[in-house]
Amino acid sequence: MSSSGDIGFDRFWVAYPRRQAKREAWKAWCALKPSPDLVETIVRSVDAHRAQWDDPRFIPLPATFLRGERWLDEIVTYAERVAITREERERAVQVYRSAGGCRHQPACHSMAECIGVLVRGWRRAERGE
Ligand SMILES: [Zn+2]
Repeated sequence: MSSSGDIGFDRFWVAYPRRQAKREAWKAWCALKPSPDLVETIVRSVDAHRAQWDDPRFIPLPATFLRGERWLDEIVTYAERVAITREERERAVQVYRSAGGCRHQPACHSMAECIGVLVRGWRRAERGE
């Protein structure tokens, strides 16, 4: 790992709101060997995610974030994080099943996540976004 990699990791580590299991995070970082562009993307994503990580229980470990390429995850703003209604859930489950699973790029990590992505997409469309 070059010295520039160390600087990139330090930036990630300082930005990340859950600084635990640093050795594992460093291993994941070395396996990833992020380019300078990717370091920028990751650090910006951590900054963007921080608002939705107001509950520490939902912050992935840094190594999990890196290994799962979680910087690709959709950012859910506070305003969007309104509970999904029963009707929305039923409609989303139908869409999910009839599509034979997740059709998103990047793919959702779970059916629950996929339903959230579907419902938030509908809400944005309804707001004309
Ligand atoms: Zn999905």
